[in-house]
Amino acid sequence: MFGSLTERIGRSKFTTLLLDIFFPRFCLGCRTHGVWVCQACEGTLPRYRPQSSHAMQYSKSLSFFRAAYSYDHWLTQSIVRTCKYEGVRGLADTMASALVREYQYIPSDGDEVVIIPVPLHERKQSERGFNQAELIALKVASILGKEVCATAVRRIRDTCTQVKLSREQRRSNVKGVFVCDEPHRITGKRVVLVDDISTTGSTLSEIAGVLWSAGVTDVIGLVFAHGNSSNEEAPVRLADHPKESLYG
Ligand SMILES: [Zn+2]
Repeated sequence: MFGSLTERIGRSKFTTLLLDIFFPRFCLGCRTHGVWVCQACEGTLPRYRPQSSHAMQYSKSLSFFRAAYSYDHWLTQSIVRTCKYEGVRGLADTMASALVREYQYIPSDGDEVVIIPVPLHERKQSERGFNQAELIALKVASILGKEVCATAVRRIRDTCTQVKLSREQRRSNVKGVFVCDEPHRITGKRVVLVDDISTTGSTLSEIAGVLWSAGVTDVIGLVFAHGNSSNEEAPVRLADHPKESLYG
């Protein structure tokens, strides 16, 4: 039965149909069926507006920086955390769409572009089962028709959570944590570094240093949410989207 069905509607649509039956999607914001975040709810998210202090921070190491939304909103936080900690990988597509929109604002210079997700340490990735930044990067690359290179940069040391650290402590926490294993794949290219969230920019800046040493022409930071250390730990209003709504 399934064989003839897949022939009629196509394998990927069939897979989506099955997932919808067994794991129905509900909007994290309003519980509308069929999507993880509906257009109306996404429209309520606060767009990221860079403050001059942020711009100065990033301009030291990045050619450009774009964030789609401010992390200072319960739904932005819910999207990031539900993907990362609840394992709802479909939310990576939601984040990727926002990043593609932001990418259009970055002036093109004709250089070949390679997209690199901020890597997790091998142990953390193995525990979680996936790297949310890599899922986002893969989707962004497929929409834009660009190459993604998830193995160019490796995190050689696992770091403690940055949440309670000051800006200076964050910088030293990630110092020397990244290495470039495949410089030949990125030399002379423009790199787009992708992550779900950036707070002080210390991780992006540290990776950028490694990339510049490898001879890239530009380093662009592209993240879904820009947080500040005061809201990073803010509680998500779970009562508005109880866990059963995630899985039906
Ligand atoms: Zn909604």
